[in-house]
Amino acid sequence: MKVTIVGSGFAGVKAALELSKDPHMDIHVITDKPDFQYYPSLYSSATGHSHLESWVPLGEIFADRSNIQVTIDSIVGIDAKKKEAIGLSETRYHYDTLLIAVGTVTTYFGIPGLDQYSYGIKSADQIRQLKERIYRDLAEHKQLDKNYVVIGGGPTGVELASALGTYLLRLARYHGIRSRHVNIRLIEAAPRLLPRSHPKISQRVQRRLENLGVQIEVGCVVEKETAQSVIAGGRPIASHTVIWTSGVMNNPLFSAHPEVFKLAKNGRVVVDEHLMAADHIYVLGDNAATPYCGLAQTALHDAKFVAKNLIRKRKRQPLQTYAAVLPASSIPVGPGWAAFEWKFIRLYGWPGAVLRRVADFIGYTDILPIGQAIRPWHAGTIYERDYFAPSVSQSPERHRKKSS
Ligand SMILES: Cc1cc2nc3c(=O)[nH]c(=O)nc-3n(C[C@H](O)[C@H](O)[C@H](O)COP(=O)(O)OP(=O)(O)OC[C@H]3O[C@@H](n4cnc5c(N)ncnc54)[C@H](O)[C@@H]3O)c2cc1C
Repeated sequence: MKVTIVGSGFAGVKAALELSKDPHMDIHVITDKPDFQYYPSLYSSATGHSHLESWVPLGEIFADRSNIQVTIDSIVGIDAKKKEAIGLSETRYHYDTLLIAVGTVTTYFGIPGLDQYSYGIKSADQIRQLKERIYRDLAEHKQLDKNYVVIGGGPTGVELASALGTYLLRLARYHGIRSRHVNIRLIEAAPRLLPRSHPKISQRVQRRLENLGVQIEVGCVVEKETAQSVIAGGRPIASHTVIWTSGVMNNPLFSAHPEVFKLAKNGRVVVDEHLMAADHIYVLGDNAATPYCGLAQTALHDAKFVAKNLIRKRKRQPLQTYAAVLPASSIPVGPGWAAFEWKFIRLYGWPGAVLRRVADFIGYTDILPIGQAIRPWHAGTIYERDYFAPSVSQSPERHRKKSS
């Protein structure tokens, strides 16, 4: 049986690995990047920890799987009548069964200036741009920016804001620069941080962040960003290092094909009880309108479910029905501290941090054999100097973002 998978994130990689256990499966993964990106640790790689915890080459993951073939291409169209996925390279990939898991894209909700001036931490390129900004301040002005503004009080914003202060102080020391006081502000439009978590988690996390010196502004709407400042809650905040962690929307691949995909109110793809969106097409992970979409564990769950059903289909066994599973969440807030939540269980401090480390290890073993999973997991404890940083003499012309 031939299965074509688009995307090599949590859902795409896991589906390929599960399907490959059946030697009768012939799997073709088409993806726009040669590696798997472990999103949960991006904030950590962006603040000085090893990049090895966030990027794992696909060659390493699929090394011993002879029935998986990988093609690097970006899928830009679907011709459901001809059963073809169309690549940016203009190659048309015929499919028998298609699994799509292309993840989300960043949106700025039309707020003026954000796309031009703000930084992100969703990819290696974005992290490199942020580091270039910070290193330029150090090299050219011999000082750090006065205000670092993190927009978005969801898990990524909280994790980043909690790690940024320590990272900046270490960098300044390393470059022999006497650091002036650096303000780190975390801005959230909702009335509390972590709006998807229990209010008690929000309270404890806010207190912890304040203890770490982070200034928090909730119920504060960002209106505009310029080269010198960001305007939030009607006030300008002088800063040229604004990091946008808010706002994701479904991949535009789906809205471009209304003849194939039906979208739910939240923009995700409507799927049936087998995660099918159209004839021969399954949609998984962040793309599918399931109750807990938007989380890595849901993407893994979807992948295991679809792979198992496809193997059952090949064996002509009855198919199973999808059941959503509530994932646990563990949000690190500074060293040795995390807030853990699952159903009615809430833990804070080092027990939460231990559970987060365990969850990360399990996350890596989902895509790598245990022996190999130790490497990226252990990399999370290593500071590196500094994989994404430009050399100090690098030309400022390379900076795509604002050059104030
Ligand atoms: C910064 C950050 C931190 C996060 N932290 C957590 C966390 O701590 N815990 C948690 O549970 N979840 C977390 N998430 C969410 C989690 O990462 C996602 O839910 C998960 O990655 C979804 O998996 P996916 O396979 O659906 O999509 P992704 O993992 O996004 O994978 C999409 C894949 O498709 C590829 N692709 C994209 N477009 C195309 C195209 N047109 N053609 C071919 N290939 C394409 C991409 O390169 C990628 O390989 C975080 C997300 C972010 C952004």
